[in-house]
Amino acid sequence: MANNILIADEDTHFFGDVCKNFDYAAQFTKHDAGLLDQIKSCNSVYRFRFPIRKGNGFEVIDAWRVEHSHHQSPTKGGIRYSEMVNEDEVMALAALMTYKCAIVNVPFGGAKGGIKINPKNYTVTELENITRRYTVELIKKNFIGPSIDVPAPDYGSGEREMSWIADTYATMNPGQLDALGAVTGKPIALHGIAGRREATGRGVAIAIRECVDVAEDMQKLGLTTGINGKRVIVQGLGNVGFYTAKFLTEFGATIVGLCEFEGAIYNEDGLDVDAVFQHRKATGSILGYAGAKQEFKISAEGLEQPCDILVPAALENQITGDNAGRIQAKIIAEGANGPTTPEAEAIFYAKGGLIIPDMYANAGGVTVSYFEWLKNLSHVAFGRINRRFEENTNLNLVNMVEGITGVALTPLQRSSIIKGASELELVNSGLEDTMIRSYHEIRETFKNVDKIDTLRTAAFVGAINKIAVSYQNLGVWP
Ligand code: NAD
Repeated sequence: MANNILIADEDTHFFGDVCKNFDYAAQFTKHDAGLLDQIKSCNSVYRFRFPIRKGNGFEVIDAWRVEHSHHQSPTKGGIRYSEMVNEDEVMALAALMTYKCAIVNVPFGGAKGGIKINPKNYTVTELENITRRYTVELIKKNFIGPSIDVPAPDYGSGEREMSWIADTYATMNPGQLDALGAVTGKPIALHGIAGRREATGRGVAIAIRECVDVAEDMQKLGLTTGINGKRVIVQGLGNVGFYTAKFLTEFGATIVGLCEFEGAIYNEDGLDVDAVFQHRKATGSILGYAGAKQEFKISAEGLEQPCDILVPAALENQITGDNAGRIQAKIIAEGANGPTTPEAEAIFYAKGGLIIPDMYANAGGVTVSYFEWLKNLSHVAFGRINRRFEENTNLNLVNMVEGITGVALTPLQRSSIIKGASELELVNSGLEDTMIRSYHEIRETFKNVDKIDTLRTAAFVGAINKIAVSYQNLGVWP
């Protein structure tokens, strides 16, 4: 414990927890022990240190890049900027990336990076120096490249850092046509893709909507079917948490609680997510927001307030054996990676709850990163070539139908039928399709395989089977 909230530290054994979940799920598959071991292990763990200039002297920075699995290439995973990051954590997150990509049928192996700094303690110039030097260290060891390993944002990093990585990689690889495919999560002006920034949160919201639309499962939980009016608490108002809360509100849910580093706020009638975000931006704290009816100085208490759905979207190890029994939500949707420990999961299921597991729930980010990578390799924005052609075809069709039936559509009806899809619409449609299909694939395994008792185990079983097929097809060289 530090600053009255649960945080990750060297003793959390996050990778061990992921392996524990893997081993449990593996008993529901038929693969031999050696193959399972190959799937589970981290293939390459690169730990390095480099200096930066700080004030009048130097500072040495600890950093990692872990490539968990090469059953598909390139490997893919975010870079975490956090003073709490450690090797165990990066290995765990890299492993989760492998399973995540398999679950949503994104053809990448899993990877993750970590830079052990608190970004708040550095100037923008220092952060740029750290990011560029980190990238050069990856280049030196062949740990980055559009067909090798493709980083993305994670906790503490965003579009700005991805721009620096892209520029460093392109500078060090002059003339490489696909250089900008070496990193995703870039700003749109630097060949990023529409919808990437909000993709993870949008995906979490779709995952929740899909889950609560299954009448049979909601009946078991004692909840009504449908997202409308569902009471939600979100932990973490960063990239994932903010957009999850925003899209859930759009879908008809009520955000009753928000928890941040400095505390939590609650109002059973609903919180205005944008207004809370602006309040925090202006004052530096979630506390003091006028629309809250209750405030909690101990942030973790916010997780335990009345709601239907809890979305931990900050960090790992937030719901543990200590507090799982006090969580009032019926559904936990894991926006963050690893927020629920195996012990907490057992307690929560024993209470009759349901957990939408991280490696599915937050896979929207990597799904749209995949689209960005495809865009970078094809060097053309989605929709650019076919949009006008589609519009002309639709226009001809509408004119023909109006001519045959004698019924004239309103201008609004005409334009909504005729309009070709923008890049954002195509990205969102691909994301939605991925999240919906994957949810039902996991649920089918959960329902139909005897003794599989959690959605996480079902998700692992599906992932293990897909990765095993890849390894079997590849064979072993030499
Ligand atoms: P972020 O840095 O944008 O936001 C994290 C937020 O959580 C911050 O506002 C921070 O103040 C808050 N926070 C930190 N500790 C907290 C605590 N103990 N209680 C309450 N709030 C706390 O990070 P992010 O990109 O939103 O990532 C959050 C989680 O989602 C991480 O586990 C990350 O691995 C996972 N994830 C992120 C993406 C992505 O696309 N960014 C994709 C998949 C998974």
